[in-house]
Amino acid sequence: MADCLFCKIVGGDIPATLVHTDEHLIAFKDINPQAPMHVLIVPRRHVASLNELTDTDDALVGEMVRRAAAIAGENGYAGRGYRTVFNCNADAGQTVFHIHLHVLGGRALTWPPG
Ligand code: AMP
Ligand code: ZN
Repeated sequence: MADCLFCKIVGGDIPATLVHTDEHLIAFKDINPQAPMHVLIVPRRHVASLNELTDTDDALVGEMVRRAAAIAGENGYAGRGYRTVFNCNADAGQTVFHIHLHVLGGRALTWPPG
């Protein structure tokens, strides 16, 4: 997608602080972190939102969730805890329409979210 910010990061056209790359995913630090650890896990392939996922994406989503757990663990937050978030569309505040899993940790997070 020519006009997609995260496709540009995947393609290397816009810099990001990468914390993981593999065949299907990249992960990088959020530019406006909301916790001491705030990483975004992004599939290389453009999918606009959760609403566009199909059953052929099940393995991809599983990889995203398991990568979130791995990154949280690498940062020492497996035991104390962390949060994963997919925002979808306006009411959830989605601003980048290329799916991404937020991984937040390093402080006590309030519930319910705002
Ligand atoms: P969302 O509101 O769920 O769509 O989340 C989009 C996230 O992308 C926000 O937390 C932004 O801070 C983050 N973001 C926007 N631009 C960049 C960028 N160039 N590099 C890293 N993170 C970004
Ligand atoms: Zn994209």
